[in-house]
Amino acid sequence: MSSYDVAIIGSGPGGYVAAIRCAQLGLKTAIIEKYSTLGGTCLNVGCIPSKALLDSSHHYEDAVKHFEAHGIDIPGEIKVNLEQMISRKASVVKQTCDGVKFLMDKNKIDVFEGLGSFKDATHINIKKNDDSTETIEAKNTIIATGSKPSSLPFIKIDKERIITSTEALELKEIPKHLIIIGGGVIGLELGQVYKRLGADVTVVEYMDRIIPTMDASLSKELTKVLKKQKVKFNLSSKVKSVERKGDEVIVKADDKKGQEIELKGDYCLVAVGRKPYTDGLNVEAAGVKLDSRGKVEVNDHLQTSASNIYAIGDVIRGAMLAHKAEEEGTLVAEQLAGQKPHIDYNLIPGVVYTWPEVASVGKTEEELKEAGIEYKVGQFPMRALGRSRASMDLDGFVKMLADKKTDEVLGVHMIGARSADLIAEAVTAMEFRASAEDISRMSHAHPTFAEAVKEAALAATDDRPLHI
Ligand code: FAD
Repeated sequence: MSSYDVAIIGSGPGGYVAAIRCAQLGLKTAIIEKYSTLGGTCLNVGCIPSKALLDSSHHYEDAVKHFEAHGIDIPGEIKVNLEQMISRKASVVKQTCDGVKFLMDKNKIDVFEGLGSFKDATHINIKKNDDSTETIEAKNTIIATGSKPSSLPFIKIDKERIITSTEALELKEIPKHLIIIGGGVIGLELGQVYKRLGADVTVVEYMDRIIPTMDASLSKELTKVLKKQKVKFNLSSKVKSVERKGDEVIVKADDKKGQEIELKGDYCLVAVGRKPYTDGLNVEAAGVKLDSRGKVEVNDHLQTSASNIYAIGDVIRGAMLAHKAEEEGTLVAEQLAGQKPHIDYNLIPGVVYTWPEVASVGKTEEELKEAGIEYKVGQFPMRALGRSRASMDLDGFVKMLADKKTDEVLGVHMIGARSADLIAEAVTAMEFRASAEDISRMSHAHPTFAEAVKEAALAATDDRPLHI
């Protein structure tokens, strides 16, 4: 029987990063993945394929709507080739997943293909595709089994017309009318893909605003921008049935006045969140406890109720984000090697890859108010930047929240071109506990979108932005 210092179950961003870090630290490491490709949700049916489609559809939209203004004439009609778009996405996914396999080999990590399940706290059975089972011994195990799309109890996902994000990444045709249940990150990103390609898109959201966990000003601005792009919204609406009749999907919901609304479309994307995945893992045999929502219970060291078993990523509490899973993978590996790492969960950024992009780190205004913390706000509109005018990306703003007395930056919330990349500056600054004035005195290259961060900092410091 093969024996390891660490076995990792699941090869998503949590699992494979944990494996690399364990191997770097000299631990004999195995990784177990039930699918034939490594990379988990993120690489196969999540972050990477959705961004590939967002990029392709963005190019199409630019060609149709913006090339003329830039002085680019394309003779003939510009058409979408959905098959090619999906096939390019597949090749991006393949390259990325192959890259993870390369990294496993480079770091001498043993990869097992098959379903991992606990025999006991130190032994894992791996059920392979040919139905054979191999058992390995592991001093420590990291559960990194991730999550799956969740639904509402009365919705039957048929994977053809009533679909999850996984199927939405593989459609064979552009929907005529795509109804999206859930105005969170995944629904809005995929909604924008198909809107750009020509679908009518209606979002039905239970809460009174989209992206409800982010700063309310971002929800407001994103709603405004998406409405300009002709996305329709039914907010404060509680979906009560989703039915398929032939090629038609009928969604019924109660609006905030309790009145029934009926929407008819040809596809319905159910994007109401994701649930932790532990099916077939047989956690009981190892003494690992799950909470009432099916998440693996962990302490601050990400240790489960079995002292040699840890859990990371989507399968435990906290934001379901690839980079959060990665940080947790690194943390557990370093702990196993005797180090004392730390994660500041307050500084895990959140991003929505619509265009304009939305990004956020730290406390929202709502959270600061609730905590009774006195704060200052500095806000700067993207349209005031030369860089924004050059590229015609005028929507959005950067908003910086700083402590009223100390000037320490407490939260940065932005919507605009390239916010997904710009947020890293805010994370760095906040990690070093910068004040708004610190950021306002740093030179920002001109012309860049990043100048909006400096200007928001100037506004927060002393209400002295330069360009408005
Ligand atoms: P996963 O990536 O879910 O990986 C778990 C792996 O474990 C899977 O490969 C699974 O097959 C395997 N597994 C499960 N059980 C077993 C078992 N018993 N034996 C063997 N293997 C097993 N996050 C971002 O940060 N940025 C984004 O832009 C982003 N976009 C997204 C877009 C979409 C459409 C979706 C669905 C998600 C997106 N996410 C994004 C979320 C991100 O994908 C997850 O947060 C991330 O993948 C979680 O990583 P993980 O390692 O915890 O689990």
